[in-house]
Amino acid sequence: MANIADMTPFQAVTRYFDQACDRLGVRDEIRNLICTPDREMRVEIPVRMDDGSLEVFIGYRIQHNGSRGPYKGGVRYHPEADEEEVRALAALMTWKTALVGIPFGGAKGGVQCDPSALSPTELQALTRRFTRSISHIIGVNQDIPAPDVGTNSQTMAWMMSAYAEEHGYAPGVVTGKPLELGGSAGREQATGRGVSLMIKEVAKDLSIAMDHSKIVIQGFGNVGSWAAHFLDEAGFSVVAVSDVNGGIHSGQGLDLAQLKAHLNETGTVVGFKGAEAITNDELLEMECEFLVPAAMGGAIHRGNASKIRARLVVEGANNPVTPGGEEILNDRGIPCLPDLLVNAGGVTVSYFEWVQNIQRFPWELSRVEKELEEILLKAYREVSALVESEKITYRAAAFSIAVDRVVKALELQGLP
Ligand code: NAD
Repeated sequence: MANIADMTPFQAVTRYFDQACDRLGVRDEIRNLICTPDREMRVEIPVRMDDGSLEVFIGYRIQHNGSRGPYKGGVRYHPEADEEEVRALAALMTWKTALVGIPFGGAKGGVQCDPSALSPTELQALTRRFTRSISHIIGVNQDIPAPDVGTNSQTMAWMMSAYAEEHGYAPGVVTGKPLELGGSAGREQATGRGVSLMIKEVAKDLSIAMDHSKIVIQGFGNVGSWAAHFLDEAGFSVVAVSDVNGGIHSGQGLDLAQLKAHLNETGTVVGFKGAEAITNDELLEMECEFLVPAAMGGAIHRGNASKIRARLVVEGANNPVTPGGEEILNDRGIPCLPDLLVNAGGVTVSYFEWVQNIQRFPWELSRVEKELEEILLKAYREVSALVESEKITYRAAAFSIAVDRVVKALELQGLP
């Protein structure tokens, strides 16, 4: 195993898995079986570009573990979406679905590309070709992709359509679809809603007053912007946010309605009037009650963890705190609420969407919100009870619960 300072994302997830196995006394043969992905697929995606040239992209679908149900996980379009990153994200999905107790395994997909540099025609061609290339390993009861960074409901609509061309109408093959194609009410805001629910619960537990509690959010995309919305609604003060171009700060709290209008107009939070400009580094180091990294992995690491001045770090993104970074946060008494708990709202409502597609029976938003809250709060209470009884970190508790469920599911099915 690599040194903690230079672990790859997959080694980091494996480290948490190993620590949970140590705590649970999981046998080596089971560990070895679960640790590596069940199946890894790499595909070439040739795309005829608008200028007539042929470009070849590389895509992945990695199915990590299917002991508890069909594989489930998003598809990321990003220049750094390589095999190693997709593998780490796939493993994390196994633990996330197990922790919240929904009947799925874990998978992830990725295409190495910069979606902002592709036209809608090129993006559609890429998506359809990628879907055709992996169509024999996905399916309603096999593996169900969803949106992630760089993909959205339009991407899922194209995936559903390309899959249908070969296998027939099957809306439950992907989640995160537009409402008109069988998407679920509440899916778009689900992850941000979950982030805000977790912050509200932990604030109550740690007796942190919600009124005027300062929130800092890195990343103002789907997760970050909806988390900001729900936290603001609950009375927290969102004082700083950022995107890939930079950040903004206002000691009084940002006016989110005006910020949204600015974002719609300019495509970035930068340049918003009534707030001072800050860098992403400055944002991470601001004094606040809750720091929510909701952009990319590795944001908080050994190099900056000693400068974090939040009372708690709440992982909106996947793997935003490296193991080395978390070690420093732990030493400094800054708890970290882990990704597999904090951002599980998205996959939970994806599960509801899949159920609605199978039953051909759409739910009202109120039902989605109620069931989401029940599932996430149950998971939070299970994690916090273990933190309390075992005196371990939130991450260690979350991994222990998740790994135990996967190990039991695997053993009950019988080993070769
Ligand atoms: P998104 O593409 O909608 O938004 C990402 C945001 O991060 C954008 O504002 C972007 O400008 C910003 N960003 C990118 N690189 C950055 C950098 N280097 N510094 C600062 N900001 C940067 O993506 P999203 O769906 O909000 O996902 C964000 C994270 O949450 C990812 O780690 C994703 O895997 C995770 N996640 C998303 C969901 C979901 O339902 N969307 C569910 C679970 C986990």
